[in-house]
Amino acid sequence: MKYISTRDNYEPVSAAEAIKLGMVPTGGLFVPEEIPQFSTTEIYQMVDSSYQEIAQKVLSKYLTDYSTAEIKEAISKAYSDNNFDEAEITPLYKLSDQSHILELWHGPTAAFKDLALQIMPYLLSQAVEKLALKQDILILVATSGDTGKAALEGFKDVERIKIVVFYPDEGVSKIQERQMRTTGGENTEVVAVEGNFDDCQNSVKDIFGDQEFKQVVSEAGYQFSSANSINWGRLVPQIVYYFVAYSQLLDQGEIKRGDKINITVPTGNFGNILAAYYAYRMGLPVNKFICASNDNKVLTDFLQTGTYDKKREFKKTISPSMDILISSNLERFLFEVTNHNANKVNSWYQQLAESGSFSVDQETHKRISELFVGRFATEEETKETIGEVYEANDYLIDTHTAVAVNSYQQYVADSADKTVTVIDSTANPYKFAATVLEAIDSLEEVNKLDEFEILDKLAAKSDTEIHTGLNNLDQEQIQHDYHCQVDEIRVLLKELITD
Ligand SMILES: *Cc1c(COP(=O)(O)O)cnc(C)c1O
Repeated sequence: MKYISTRDNYEPVSAAEAIKLGMVPTGGLFVPEEIPQFSTTEIYQMVDSSYQEIAQKVLSKYLTDYSTAEIKEAISKAYSDNNFDEAEITPLYKLSDQSHILELWHGPTAAFKDLALQIMPYLLSQAVEKLALKQDILILVATSGDTGKAALEGFKDVERIKIVVFYPDEGVSKIQERQMRTTGGENTEVVAVEGNFDDCQNSVKDIFGDQEFKQVVSEAGYQFSSANSINWGRLVPQIVYYFVAYSQLLDQGEIKRGDKINITVPTGNFGNILAAYYAYRMGLPVNKFICASNDNKVLTDFLQTGTYDKKREFKKTISPSMDILISSNLERFLFEVTNHNANKVNSWYQQLAESGSFSVDQETHKRISELFVGRFATEEETKETIGEVYEANDYLIDTHTAVAVNSYQQYVADSADKTVTVIDSTANPYKFAATVLEAIDSLEEVNKLDEFEILDKLAAKSDTEIHTGLNNLDQEQIQHDYHCQVDEIRVLLKELITD
């Protein structure tokens, strides 16, 4: 299977090459030339398969240049009981007769990004071997919190790869900072940058495009790659858990063979919901996708009107991992939904770059609307939903999951759709403990406590356990101490790769 560019501007490449490159060097994103299929029999048989076995089935269809043994090794290292605290990896929690929460946060860093970032480093490391690269890989990550820790955990001690994470000194929570700075591993570096997230991200982007610096990196024995969700290696592992969820619903008698389900996803970069769409295109029976946003509702507006308009105020919300105005993976979706019309994609993304918006044609909008609905939750609605779910079910959800639950409820209220629905839970509630505690207790209570005390208070109040990845963080050894100004990043990076 080959991978082609959404902008028809690059030769088809193998999966290993697509994963090594991250994105298309001439602009655009890699997608599979055609979408592989599962027969209904294959889908029903998954009921008797483990998460790891289903992962093997899905990954083998896409990574055709990887051997069965290679894929198996990557899966067994990634989805081990060392890394995940539930044997099912992504268990379902029944919220109501029609809705089920898919818990995607049982990995080491308590966010769903672990499901991709635990395995992707092995796929990248195997790609380095397969392509007989002489140089090792240097991964640079600019993070506003979640991605940095998930990438560090995934890449630590993976052969022939070095990872350097940059975070804004004052721009992440104390817990997130502690999570990153306590990461072990011989090949990990963490740098606090004096500036905001945009400063970090822009610096990293500049470095990627800097030919002179590329030479420096090359002389040090490295070449760049990326670990963010535009890399196909991050998307493909996410297709797996939609088949797993369907199998669990069948197994638990919640649905019958052939029944369609709805899938609700709290969305930022459109990666997770795109993985669900690929599962659908492979044969998973889906009725509707509910794309849930926070106050940065650029996708809600797009799905409702057909116009994508990023010219709007960026809002910092209590679901920060969804604070995004350019959803990179939407490009892949538009390419798929137009049956690989690179001309259209090119013209839309040129308009987006030039004027900050584009409108799809009516036919495309109609096709999208038949399958996707967009809803958003305000800050107030998000907190209320956390409180209501806790009251009704004695179950804690984080702010991102609450956006999804609220959006789902809005959709049901105006459609009366009774289809069984899977709602993605993308972070453990302890990861956003302050807001969760505020929602089930009070702001006064939260204001009395520091971030670590809030974890303890939430545990005591809700009688639940702190996620193991977040517990005792305040006692762990700090491993990383680098701190620099924005204009010192290159000098520091050079030191880090040459010593
Ligand atoms: C990254 C993230 C999201 C958004 O996922 P996308 O694939 O970017 O749409 C949602 N929730 C949490 C907790 C995240 O970390």
